Amino acid sequence: MASTQRDYYQILGVPRNADAKTIKDAFRTLALRYHPDRNKEPGAEERFKEIAEAYAVLSDPQKCAQYDAGGFAGVSGFSPEDLFGGIDFRDIFGGHGFDFDLGFDFGESFFDRFFGKRPRKGPQPGDNIEVELVIPLERVLTGGEETVRISRPVTCLTCQGVGAEPGTQPRICSSCKGTGQHVESQQKGGITFRQITACGTCHGRGTVIDMPCPDCKGQGRVEREETLTIKIPPGIEEGMALRIPGYGQPSRESGGPPGDLYVVVHSAPDPRFERHGADLLHRETIQVTDAVLGTRLSIPTLEEDVEVSIPPGTQPDTLLRLQGKGLPEFGGKKRGDLYLSVQVHIPEQLSQDERNLYQRLRTLEKKK
Ligand SMILES: [Zn+2]
Ligand SMILES: [Zn+2]
Repeated sequence: MASTQRDYYQILGVPRNADAKTIKDAFRTLALRYHPDRNKEPGAEERFKEIAEAYAVLSDPQKCAQYDAGGFAGVSGFSPEDLFGGIDFRDIFGGHGFDFDLGFDFGESFFDRFFGKRPRKGPQPGDNIEVELVIPLERVLTGGEETVRISRPVTCLTCQGVGAEPGTQPRICSSCKGTGQHVESQQKGGITFRQITACGTCHGRGTVIDMPCPDCKGQGRVEREETLTIKIPPGIEEGMALRIPGYGQPSRESGGPPGDLYVVVHSAPDPRFERHGADLLHRETIQVTDAVLGTRLSIPTLEEDVEVSIPPGTQPDTLLRLQGKGLPEFGGKKRGDLYLSVQVHIPEQLSQDERNLYQRLRTLEKKK
């Protein structure tokens, strides 16, 4: 890690309760301004590293929570690979491959240039998997454990991934002698042309399975359902993704690490509350008489019902604030508020008694 000790939120110029989009937008703007390919002023490269590091921590819910809890000590153990591994810079700066108009590259060479060689060379990791998880607002409030079910291909245990029935072995393809290729040579005017094609018998694998494994049908992989327990941080924002390393697809290359699992968390619709970040909105409709004379209402919160006094003369669409009765702010110490929106019901059908009373009221109002 770079030796910077400036606060990550300050570096990006965002408030501590900034949401994912604000953080991403701030990073994009600053990174474009300070990228050393565009900014030749002294110090631009240091500034750029600082910005990238701040973004790497604040954009990852788990690292961000560690930073909020423990400051720099909380995230000092991360290597550049840990820090930047989960960020798709192409997604931030274009969304469809490289954005050549920017005049620089945020891909592999990004790490080599600014943070030294990536420590993980060799086989490519497998693809990432993304799953959605819907949790009730009560879980957003407290945080805690939730289970997710994922289905992913894993190495077939019956044949150890070989694809052949146990006790049998794939045999070397006789058509290509195990090379997986057919090479045709042609002589034309003293020049040798070689044409290489994949072997049609073994489809380029070099081996043929006569007795396929019954469990994986010769694929060497089977789909497996797994149930994982994951930890939800309190106040997790709508649409935030939690990264679970190693629970993605297996690598296509032998010895390669699996990809990661991204759990995208949504809060479940709740008939009592509308969620607005850390704030909640609850609607109540009261009678005209209660609006005029005032009343007391019992209002649900995520913890217990509370009594709220509606003052006399309350107007339609009045918004009352119950401080600290919302959701916790993600990564912060404060709690949002619960807003009570008061609607007033105007009666449509009146009894004769009611009509007489309203008419008497009208007469009184005219005398004022
Ligand atoms: Zn098998
Ligand atoms: Zn072959």
